[in-house]
Parts: sequence; structure tokens; C-alpha cells
Amino acid sequence: MEFELSEEHRLIKDTARRIAREVVAPRAKEVDETAEYPEDYFQAFKQAGLLGMAIPEQMGGTGNGVLPICLAIEEVAKYECGAGLILVLSGLPTRPIVFGGTKEQQQKWLPSLAEGTTRGAFCLTEPDHGSDAAGLETRAVRDGDDYVLNGSKVYISGGTVADYLTVFARTGGPGARGISAFVVDAHAPGVNIDRTDDKMGVRSVPTAHFSFSDVRVPAENLLGLEEGKGFNHAMLTLNSLRPTVGARGVGLAEGAAGYAMEWARERKAFGNSVIDFEAIQFMFADMAIQIEAARNLVYKAAWLVDQGKYTREYAHHLSIAKAYATEVANRVASDALQVLGAQGYMKDHPLERHFRDARQLMIVEGSSQVQRVVISRAMIDRTLVYG
Ligand SMILES: Cc1cc2nc3c(=O)[nH]c(=O)nc-3n(C[C@H](O)[C@H](O)[C@H](O)COP(=O)(O)OP(=O)(O)OC[C@H]3O[C@@H](n4cnc5c(N)ncnc54)[C@H](O)[C@@H]3O)c2cc1C
Repeated sequence: MEFELSEEHRLIKDTARRIAREVVAPRAKEVDETAEYPEDYFQAFKQAGLLGMAIPEQMGGTGNGVLPICLAIEEVAKYECGAGLILVLSGLPTRPIVFGGTKEQQQKWLPSLAEGTTRGAFCLTEPDHGSDAAGLETRAVRDGDDYVLNGSKVYISGGTVADYLTVFARTGGPGARGISAFVVDAHAPGVNIDRTDDKMGVRSVPTAHFSFSDVRVPAENLLGLEEGKGFNHAMLTLNSLRPTVGARGVGLAEGAAGYAMEWARERKAFGNSVIDFEAIQFMFADMAIQIEAARNLVYKAAWLVDQGKYTREYAHHLSIAKAYATEVANRVASDALQVLGAQGYMKDHPLERHFRDARQLMIVEGSSQVQRVVISRAMIDRTLVYG
């Protein structure tokens, strides 16, 4: 068992830490207020070569893997959770192409996505189908050399800045086997953004609501040139990126706890520093226990993914890490805010923002409840056995 980070891992972590301090931190409050996509964050990630880590080298990426992405996300999410999401988005729309694309398709789209000269978005959720993605209703019907796409997708992160959309649509009968995956030009005729959301948190990365009206998608954009495989590509993508959502939670919790600790050293009450009260000290101890546990789960899950272990039989490990780390982010953000008393409630400090941002993490990419479905099923069917 090896707990040390490699030289490559440390380099990526240090690079992300520099970007976090120099680019992300100074703008964190502003991007929350304006809800404008932080192009400067994206450009900093691009210049540092951090956008191709989820894509193998032979497909045009840097191939570092999911653990290095988690290390980078953890650093930037200490200051602004949306910065971590931008790094997640380097994998979410691209990994279906990695898993399901033909060689030609991989060479066509992945190098520019890895470099950051193009951007993608992952379009699974629909107005009537979120957790129940296998029921999705967006339709793609073959017509000559094209498919004709009709339907809608909601809450699509990064949709407003995307060049390509990885769209999951029904080409066959009901259920998961009727779903196929397509790469769709985000600016093709018939692709419309009907609205964006006024969100509670993670306001820096807009979520778009797309409608597709008779969008002609070349048949060569069907991933793998094979119908019916799309749901599998989506699930492998979500499984393999669960640690990255957890990493957003770990980073957020670390940022919140660290901020509250510095404040508690300075703030006086009853003639003492707030940190001198045992009740406050133990809140910090509880934060540390949870952060350390969450970080270890996330790193282990990321390591599993990098060993190729993200198929169904490993899914519960990835779900445990995602559920725990994102719930820790919520508890720690709440406790850190509490340490500051009234000041924690005010926008003068980042804790109310961390508190709002953390809430997103328990909903996206499989809610906490859905992760528990995966975990309990693994126990029931004896994939996960204790004793
Ligand atoms: C900020 C943000 C960004 C997003 N970005 C993207 C994106 O980029 N691409 C994309 O495709 N989607 C995106 N989503 C959508 C997100 O993945 C869905 O919101 C999520 O999957 C939950 O679906 P839902 O909101 O429809 O909730 P529902 O599925 O309607 O669930 C409602 C409630 O029921 C619970 N529930 C549902 N099924 C079960 C079950 N079987 N057992 C127990 N409880 C259950 C849920 O946990 C939840 O509490 C985003 C959402 C948000 C908020």
C-alpha cells in the first residue's frame, strides 16, 4: 500500500494550487455575484495543460488520470467550487467519446477538447428524467446519412460555452438498451438554449436548458457507430468521475475549515479567543476527522478508476466516496459558518458561499439517495460483503 503522491502528482497539485491562489481566489466572490462564466479560470487551466488529464495520450490528452484531476480540483475548490466543476467538465463530455468512440471519432474531437481549443457539455438530464435517466425521451431518428434529433435537456453545466454536446437520445425501444450517444455541434441549426438557471450556488458555471428541434446530426457522430450503447457510456462516465465530484467536496470543506480556523484565532469573546473554547476546538476536530476520511475515500476511489476499476462491480466504492465527501462538504461548510457567528452569515466572508455551493454536490451526478441505492444493492447482491 502506497500513500505517497508521485512526483507527477505533486507537480499537478502545485500547479493547481498556484492557479487557485493567483487566479481563482481573487475572483471567487465576484463570479458568485455576477454568475458569469470565469473565462480566466478556463484559460489558466488551458495554459497549464490541465484540461486533457481525463483523456489518454493516444487520443490527444495528457492521460494523467482521475487521481491527478482530483488533486487539482481539491486545490481550486478550496476557494471556489465552480472552478472544480470546470475541471470536472474536462472529463464529463469527453469520457463517453473515450469509452465509446471509434478511433476516427476520438481523433476528430478529443485532441481539441484536451487542449481547450474546444469545450464540451454532457447532456443527459431531461425535464421528466433526472435520476431515472434510463427513461429519457429525447429522440434520434435515422434519416438517410443523418439522425434527426428532437427533445430537451436541462441543467446542462457549461452548456453556454460548449462547442460540442455529448447527447444521450433514444434510437430504439424503452429502457437503457434503446439509448444511443451522439456528439452534437452546439451551434447546429435547431439547437437552442431556451434559458439558463438562477442558481443558489456554483453560480460561476451556468446551467443551460437546451431544446433540439429537428437537429440534423450526421450518422458518423453516433458514438461507436452503434445504436443502443449510449446508456453504458453514460454510466461508465459517471462512475469514473464520481471521485472528481467528491474532490470538489473535499476541497470546499478544506477551504471552509481553514478559513474558520484563522478567524477563530483572532475573534475574542468573554476575554478569550474563540478558538480557546473547547466546544469550538471539538468542532474543528470533527471537521478534520471528516475531511481526512473523505479525502482518503476520494483518493482510493480515484486510484481504483485509474486501475480501470469503474465498472458495475466496483460502482459502490465510487458511490461511497461521492456520497460521503459531498455530505462532509455540507456538514463542514455549515460548522465553519457557525464558528463565525453572525459574520459567517454575511457575504463579507466566503462561508455562506461555500454553504450554498456545497448543496449542489449532493444532487448532481447521482444524488446522495441514488448513491445509497447503488451501495445497498451491492450489499444485497453480495458484491459488497462484510464479516
Ligand atoms: C447545478 C446543477 C448542474 C447540473 N449539471 C448537469 C449536467 O451538466 N448534465 C446533466 O445531464 N445533468 C446535470 N444536472 C442534473 C442532475 O444530474 C440531476 O438534477 C440529478 O441527476 C437529479 O435529477 P432530478 O433533479 O431530476 O431529481 P429527481 O430524479 O426527480 O429526484 C428527486 C428526488 O428523489 C430522489 N430519488 C430519485 N430516484 C430515487 C430512488 N431510486 N431512490 C431514492 N431516491 C430517489 C432524489 O435523490 C431526489 O431527492 C445538474 C443539476 C444541477 C442542480
